[in-house]
Amino acid sequence: MKHSKQIPQLPFAAEEFTPANIYQQLRKLHYIGQEKAVKALSLMACRHINRLKYLFVEGIPPQELPPKDNFLLLGPTGSGKTYLVNLIFSRILKLPTTVVDLTAYSETGYVGQDVVSILTRLVLAAGGDYERAAMGIVCLDEFDKLATSKSDAVFSGQGTTKDVSGLGVQKELLKMLEGAEIDVPVDISHSAYAPRQTMSTEHIAFIALGAFSGITKTIRQHNKQIGFGQQRQKELEDKVAYQIEEDDLRKVAYFQDYGIMPELIGRFTRIIPFHPLGKTHLKTILQEQIGQQYHKELELLNTELLIEESVMDKVVEQALEMETGARALRAALYGHIEAACFELYSQKRKSRRRLRLFVKEGHIQWEINALKKAKKSK
Ligand code: ADP
Repeated sequence: MKHSKQIPQLPFAAEEFTPANIYQQLRKLHYIGQEKAVKALSLMACRHINRLKYLFVEGIPPQELPPKDNFLLLGPTGSGKTYLVNLIFSRILKLPTTVVDLTAYSETGYVGQDVVSILTRLVLAAGGDYERAAMGIVCLDEFDKLATSKSDAVFSGQGTTKDVSGLGVQKELLKMLEGAEIDVPVDISHSAYAPRQTMSTEHIAFIALGAFSGITKTIRQHNKQIGFGQQRQKELEDKVAYQIEEDDLRKVAYFQDYGIMPELIGRFTRIIPFHPLGKTHLKTILQEQIGQQYHKELELLNTELLIEESVMDKVVEQALEMETGARALRAALYGHIEAACFELYSQKRKSRRRLRLFVKEGHIQWEINALKKAKKSK
């Protein structure tokens, strides 16, 4: 990996990007819904790149600028947290971005991976360039799984597992998040023995992601103590696809009860809730994203794909039952397209065909028909 002492080149002209402009680009890229989160992250991204410009282009000393921001995105699986971070920072801004699954890490790297090797991944995402990496974005996925066993709430949600080394990882992350000089292993596979390169996290933005299933129970218990209204209590019924409002998340104490160190929560400038995607949004994602991808794939087989409206509605219903948000859409549609694709890929005849998906007697069915060649006009 190279390590130059030059001032890093920004991969864009910072002034080209305003929050409104990033917002519009996201919508053009078919990012659906999550209005508040999209606006908050567009602004954060814009402030991040302007800060880089002030530091590295205009040479303003860091102590004269506000510190970098770290965000915590909280919401059910498949609601678009990772997708949004990747679209903004990697796709639109082309900044080095890495998404790491925190369940793979442990305090010393003795059992799991060494926490500092998270930064090695960022350096790799920056093509081995330490200066560029030092301006990048680290996305800490499954952040909620670092919760210590202190809390019962953690285990009341689905799919959570006890991570005995969670607290150790939290302590190491604390250092990284506040901006420190860290000795980063240059090699990911043997991080304990690899030579190290010092790197500052002063300008790296950390974005933690988590479902925090079970946190509604913690909030409910707190609210009960202070005599919160019955209606809100009911709304906070504990389920995987919950809906949490920003006001519910203001108290650091909730997260402490959940098993996250208050100091660590304190490192996040903003905690942004993502809402479960409803029928309308899921249908749009199915039409504009997933349907289009299949459409393109089948065009390569000279096949037109026609998915009837009723099929879309049924697939959305099935996806909702899976409770994994937009993630479930692809799986739900694939199940219906698989047998037809077996046929299409097997057929030798490559004349133009149409695959039609339709609902008959309550079930999704398919048929393949040859399409007549358009008559040439004389
Ligand atoms: P999570 O909230 O668990 O991080 P992801 O961001 O990984 O969920 O979403 C999974 C997939 O679902 C994405 O790769 C994307 O294809 C689709 N998706 C999720 N949310 C949205 C959204 N709001 N708009 C468009 N596509 C979405």
